Amino acid sequence: MMEDIAVLQKLIDESSNIVFFGGAGVSTESGIPDFRSVDGLYHQKFKYPPETMLSHSFYVSHKEEFYEFYREKLLLKVVGTADVSKAEPNAAHRFLAELEKAGKLSAVVTQNIDGLHQAAGSKNVYELHGSVLRNYCQNCGKLYSAEDIFNSNGVPKCSCGGDIKPDVVLYEEGLDNDVMSGAVRAISNADMLIIGGTSLVVYPAAGLVDYYRGNKLVLINRDETARDSIANYAFHGKIGEIFSQLHV
Ligand code: NAD
Ligand code: ZN
Repeated sequence: MMEDIAVLQKLIDESSNIVFFGGAGVSTESGIPDFRSVDGLYHQKFKYPPETMLSHSFYVSHKEEFYEFYREKLLLKVVGTADVSKAEPNAAHRFLAELEKAGKLSAVVTQNIDGLHQAAGSKNVYELHGSVLRNYCQNCGKLYSAEDIFNSNGVPKCSCGGDIKPDVVLYEEGLDNDVMSGAVRAISNADMLIIGGTSLVVYPAAGLVDYYRGNKLVLINRDETARDSIANYAFHGKIGEIFSQLHV
């Protein structure tokens, strides 16, 4: 592994337009479970699988249950309580923010909705699936924070009486065009693409990695992914642990 770290360090040293493409695995070391690992959300006991509860049709037909799931599984760790500590950025988020600050990384493209890249200081972040930090009234557009929604009861209502919807792309919903085209542009122009903490099974997000045209495609994931073969260099391990051994 020491040798691998040296290889990865050299690739980073030689690059000046790095793009990072990541997913839920980037935040597991911050205490936010992913969907597919053994201790991930899929393996917890729920009446419906997360993909059902986070779908547009479920949101429309079961708002009460949707918000129950949203508060408990998506907001709790982001907001924190007296009993549950608030998730903080880990070494992976911090290293990427440092790379950007040093002018070596041009963008983070993330499937995560937890805001931890920005909390670590990253500026150019394409949030493919939105963010739980933003929740909008469907009627007047008023913005509500994660805390506002977490502390509300049942189906949250705006002061104008309108329904509030999280700024999160639910299953069955399309991705934002501007976010998509910005992410495509960044990945197309990258001299190095680091893919990390994603099973690469959620489309269309996972398809974005195909826009990379270089020969420095690095994949860092704890488990093998369906697409390990697209990588020029694949590392299996915890991304925070791996990034904490690197320097800008
Ligand atoms: P996923 O759950 O499908 O896959 C996560 C992958 O990360 C797994 O392959 C696992 O092996 C790997 N992993 C877990 N911990 C890791 C670590 N410490 N270091 C390296 N790899 C690690 O996640 P996905 O591909 O992002 O797709 C899930 C969807 O669910 C996304 O669309 C995302 O929006 C959403 N989601 C977001 C969050 C979040 O915002 N933090 C959390 C759960 C799910
Ligand atoms: Zn309103």
